[in-house]
Amino acid sequence: MADIVIMGAGLGGAIMAYEMKEQMRREDKLTVLTKDPIYHFVPSNPWVPVGWRSREALEVDLAPAFAKRGIGFKASPVTKLSPKENTLETADGSTLRYDYLVIATGPELAFDEIEGLGPDGFTASICHIDHAEKAAGKFEAFCKNPGPIVIGAAQGASCFGPAYEFTFILETELRRRKIRDRVPMIFVTAEPYIGHLGLDGVGDTKGLLESQMRDRHIKWMTSARIKKVDEGKMTVEEVGDDGAVKATKELPFGFSMILPAFRGVAPLRGIEGLVNPRGFVIVDKHQQNPAFPNIYSVGVCVAIPPTGPTPVPCGVPKTGFMIESMVTATARNIGAILRGNKPTFQATWNAVCLADFGDSGVAFVAQPQIPPRNVNWSSSGKWVHVAKVGFEKYFLRKMRKGESEPFYESMALNMLGIEKLKAVAKVE
Ligand SMILES: Cc1cc2nc3c(=O)[nH]c(=O)nc-3n(C[C@H](O)[C@H](O)[C@H](O)COP(=O)(O)OP(=O)(O)OC[C@H]3O[C@@H](n4cnc5c(N)ncnc54)[C@H](O)[C@@H]3O)c2cc1C
Repeated sequence: MADIVIMGAGLGGAIMAYEMKEQMRREDKLTVLTKDPIYHFVPSNPWVPVGWRSREALEVDLAPAFAKRGIGFKASPVTKLSPKENTLETADGSTLRYDYLVIATGPELAFDEIEGLGPDGFTASICHIDHAEKAAGKFEAFCKNPGPIVIGAAQGASCFGPAYEFTFILETELRRRKIRDRVPMIFVTAEPYIGHLGLDGVGDTKGLLESQMRDRHIKWMTSARIKKVDEGKMTVEEVGDDGAVKATKELPFGFSMILPAFRGVAPLRGIEGLVNPRGFVIVDKHQQNPAFPNIYSVGVCVAIPPTGPTPVPCGVPKTGFMIESMVTATARNIGAILRGNKPTFQATWNAVCLADFGDSGVAFVAQPQIPPRNVNWSSSGKWVHVAKVGFEKYFLRKMRKGESEPFYESMALNMLGIEKLKAVAKVE
């Protein structure tokens, strides 16, 4: 019998639990440890500040969902990981031993790296449901007294899609409220060009997103480094290709939302061999940590190097489908090890993304993530909005029901030619 523990129950950790349950043996024990007893569907957070979604619509109560599948669950965050001893300590003072650990703790939001950034400072955030709800209050107040909007992604950020998505969602909502004419909008980003997305562009994301911004009168500033944020004012440096500061600008705002840089969560940071200097978990092609082979990792907490150098640091996004591919490979690899075999499954890390704009959207597929690619496709249209709503409903249903991968999902993905697992040669 083996004790398998999953640390974190967000998008990656929760589906990891369902897929692991399918792959483990009857006698094995599976426990999920997480910070929050309620799961929230993060990709829908951009709809919360404008009132298109409520917190309740995005919730799944994890305890009954896991209990139904015979999965142990404890909502107490891990405070200390000791990989040499194979133990975890949780905030309620207990210690847990594991034979296999899957780390799925997502990101810690590094607002503190820029003075005045974040929901405790002067900018809003959509990274967490609590932040998105706070942003809703700020946005309502803003609409009573409109002014300029500054929106974007800070230096070191990796999650660019939601910054674009939220920009266009706000723009749509301001038009609906008939106050768009009173709101100058600027998009400020660490990316070297619009549509880079941390992936050096996908298909024509540069053309598509620039064109949408021009159509909607949204200005932009690229290779931007935020120096500090004060009440109603952001100080931003424009960086040249040589890394030197070209200009420093002060941008006034009545409402601002900036995606921060991410880092690994506190109990992981500084563990030699387990994490990189930012606290992201080092994994090999089987999602396995080379220094501690009984530790695996999936999701945003995994270390992935940038696609290439940029004047201002830009990370690689880890999107939902890519995370699902990590989960499937990890569950099957642990399943193989439990039966005395070697891990052979490799995730594709394909990037598939739907960015909703409220009335239309942009979609892209990058296979593999790093160019040159076999599939390098992007497109836009009203269908993206419909597809994103479908994705939300489908994912939440899957989470509530505890399904790992129903038949029709596999079929749809196969029809699209999108695979979660690489064809693996069995090498002994
Ligand atoms: C605003 C936003 C919108 C996005 N939209 C999309 C989209 O449309 N499509 C897409 O494909 N991707 C999207 N993404 C990217 C990605 O899919 C999400 O970030 C996703 O939630 C990442 O999943 P995760 O499991 O890695 O992390 P999370 O979902 O953040 O989960 C992390 C979990 O770890 C837990 N945890 C943290 N610390 C501890 C601890 N010490 N002990 C135990 N548990 C802990 C947390 O409570 C949480 O349950 C978006 C990201 C953001 C921020």
